[in-house]
Amino acid sequence: MSLRRRPEALDTYAVNTWCPGCGNFGILTAVKRVLKGWEEREALHRLVMVSGIGCHAKIVDYLAVNSFYSIHGRVLPVAMGLKLARPELTVLGHAGDGDAYGEGIAHLIFAAKRNLDLTLVVHNNSVYGLTTGQFTPTSPKGFKGRSTPKGSPETPINPLELMLASGATFVARGYAGRPEHLAGLIEEALKHRGFAFIDVLQPCYTFFNTYEFYNQHVKEIGPEHDPADFEAALHLALQWDYSAREAEIPIGIFYRVEKPLYEEAVRVPEKTPDLSAHIATHHL
Ligand code: SF4
Repeated sequence: MSLRRRPEALDTYAVNTWCPGCGNFGILTAVKRVLKGWEEREALHRLVMVSGIGCHAKIVDYLAVNSFYSIHGRVLPVAMGLKLARPELTVLGHAGDGDAYGEGIAHLIFAAKRNLDLTLVVHNNSVYGLTTGQFTPTSPKGFKGRSTPKGSPETPINPLELMLASGATFVARGYAGRPEHLAGLIEEALKHRGFAFIDVLQPCYTFFNTYEFYNQHVKEIGPEHDPADFEAALHLALQWDYSAREAEIPIGIFYRVEKPLYEEAVRVPEKTPDLSAHIATHHL
């Protein structure tokens, strides 16, 4: 890892290796904006960020907070384990679309179903950027990349529809090209008591540059939307199917309700039980 001088408290010494123009910069800016507000509140030491594998995962290298670099698709098992073992922690997961909607999709569904109090930000660029351009579960139909040179025949999944169907209590979509709006979503997600999910449209400047399309089609959800209305949230989620090119793309909070927390429904022992006597007997 290359090092440089650390200019401010939240920055690390790591040189940023994202491509110039990468949407991950917008997400990093948004997260920093939220965490800067925390420095006075002395809450930063109780925050743990968990990332997966992919370009998104480097975000933990660039922020001087507690973090855990997990493996592909396993952000949520780590985040859930942390929350169950140390409920006082604020757990913020970062995953790529391959991580969350491919390898880790079962974990995603169960995290939504269980409703642990944690936040997941999905850096959704609809392409595997780190491995140079293969299609992912949210690549549009016809996507041409390294693994689909003639165009993918698959229809993308709609992660917001999936999360609503799985019981998530906070469902939102942001855009890396609007970091101020995204910071507001992350702030609300971290305040939410329950599983908070944000799908972030994050253009991969090098392998799938969607800036122009998103800049033309993204529209912030207005105050007329009631986030407690499940049917309205589902209707909004279905407005864009991650494939149709000309639909308006809503960003903002689609759904937000309170439900009982998983960690309050299960008993977590305060100490690891002493099994030495049992093990000794077993060996005899
Ligand atoms: S390959 Fe794409 S996602 Fe990865 S750093 Fe470059 S622009 Fe960003």
